[in-house]
Amino acid sequence: MEECVFCKIVRGELPSWKVYEDEDVVAFLDINPATPGHTLVVPKQHYRNILDTPDEVVAKVFKVAKKISEAVVKGLGAKGVNVITNAEGVAGQVVFHFHVHVVPRYSPDELKF
Ligand code: 5GP
Ligand code: ZN
Repeated sequence: MEECVFCKIVRGELPSWKVYEDEDVVAFLDINPATPGHTLVVPKQHYRNILDTPDEVVAKVFKVAKKISEAVVKGLGAKGVNVITNAEGVAGQVVFHFHVHVVPRYSPDELKF
């Protein structure tokens, strides 16, 4: 997966604004945020999307997505959050490395998704 943009971010070959990292998972700010604080949570290992990611890896990624959700509500003052994953092009997936979007919501504005 040498050409995968998120693998490059995981390896530090592309810059990103990391907000969380452990041995299995990285979270970094989306380059084109839907709202301030929009964060992507990804496993360090490459999987195409949730449909071919092992359950235990999905669980680790969503556990971190929950931590990030709590942080944006407590730390950024968001009123709520959307936690979303897109699988395959028909569902809007553009980067084919499993990731979960954490989108802080400050007001009931229109969603991009
Ligand atoms: P998808 O549509 O695949 O669920 O979402 C991919 C997300 O990755 C988009 O929100 C897009 O802005 C973000 N993205 C794409 N390339 C990069 C990048 O190089 N760096 C960062 N931080 N985000 C990226
Ligand atoms: Zn990858």
